[in-house]
Amino acid sequence: MVKKTEKKSRKIRVGVQSITGCAGCQLSLYFVEDALLELLDKIDLVAAPMIKGRNEEEDYDVLFVEGSVSSKDDLDNLLRWRKKTKLLIALGACASHGCMQSMKHVMNQEEVERAVYNKFPSDKRLKPITDVPIHKYVKVDFYIPGCPPSKEEIVQVLKLLVQGVQPRVYDKPVCHECSLKENYCLLDQGIECLGPLVNGGCRALCPSYNHPCTGCRGFLDDANLESGKQLLRDKGFDPDMIIKRMTKYNTLQFLEFETRGKKSNEEGEGRG
Ligand code: SF4
Ligand code: SF4
Ligand code: SF4
Repeated sequence: MVKKTEKKSRKIRVGVQSITGCAGCQLSLYFVEDALLELLDKIDLVAAPMIKGRNEEEDYDVLFVEGSVSSKDDLDNLLRWRKKTKLLIALGACASHGCMQSMKHVMNQEEVERAVYNKFPSDKRLKPITDVPIHKYVKVDFYIPGCPPSKEEIVQVLKLLVQGVQPRVYDKPVCHECSLKENYCLLDQGIECLGPLVNGGCRALCPSYNHPCTGCRGFLDDANLESGKQLLRDKGFDPDMIIKRMTKYNTLQFLEFETRGKKSNEEGEGRG
C-alpha cells in the first residue's frame, strides 16, 4: 500500500512498463482519459513509454507491468524495475497468468519459432524464454487480470492507491456476477462456458453478451478443473475442445492444476 502520511504533499509516482504482450493493456489504461486526467493532480505519470517521450526509471511508488516474461531482455527489465518500485502491479492476463503465449509450454519450441519467424535469427538475438507470468520471477503486490483488463477496474485500483487503501482481491467466480445480472446460463443453452472456474470481477462481461467465458481472468485458486471438465463432458462437449478452451489463456495454470491433482491422487493411493 502507498503510505501517504510521510509525504502528504508529494504526488504518487506511477509508471507503466511493458514486456512481451500486445500493448492492449496499456491502451485500456490510457483510454480511461477523463478519469486519468482527474487523477493527474494526485499522481505523476513518470514513465509511460507508449505515450511519453521522456520517461524516468527511478523511485516509482506504483509500477504497472504489462506482458509476460518471454525473453532474456524481458527478464532483465523486470528484475530492474522490481528494484525501482514500492508496489508492482501485474496488468492484464499476460502479466498475471501468461496468456496465449504460454501455449508454448505444450508446443514444440522450434515449430513455434518457425511459425512466427519462418527462419529464426541464427544468432538467437531474441534469446527466447518459454513464456511465464511475472510472479515466477518477482514479487507481485496486486493483480488486475483480464485480456484486456477493464478500464473501470484500473481506475478503481488507482483511486484506492491514491487514498492509501489496499485494493480488494475479487475472489468469486464469473458465475456470481452473472447470476446477479440474472443472465440465462449459457451452459443451460448448450454453450460451453468456463464461468464456474474463472476469477470474476469483469461483471460477467462475455456471458452478458451471450459469449462463453474463456477464462481471461485466470482460474480461481480453488477451482476444481476435474469437476469442470466432467461437467462439460456430461453436457456433451468434446473433450479436446474443453482442453483447448481451458488452455487458451491459462496453459501454465492448467498444467499446475494437473500436477497438483496427480500429486494428491498419488498421496491418496499411498495412504490407502
Ligand atoms: S493481456 Fe491481452 S491485452 Fe494485455 S498485453 Fe496481453 S494479450 Fe494484450
Ligand atoms: S453463463 Fe457462464 S458465467 Fe454465467 S452462470 Fe452460466 S456458466 Fe456461469
Ligand atoms: S467473462 Fe471470462 S473471458 Fe469474458 S471478460 Fe470475464 S473472465 Fe474474461
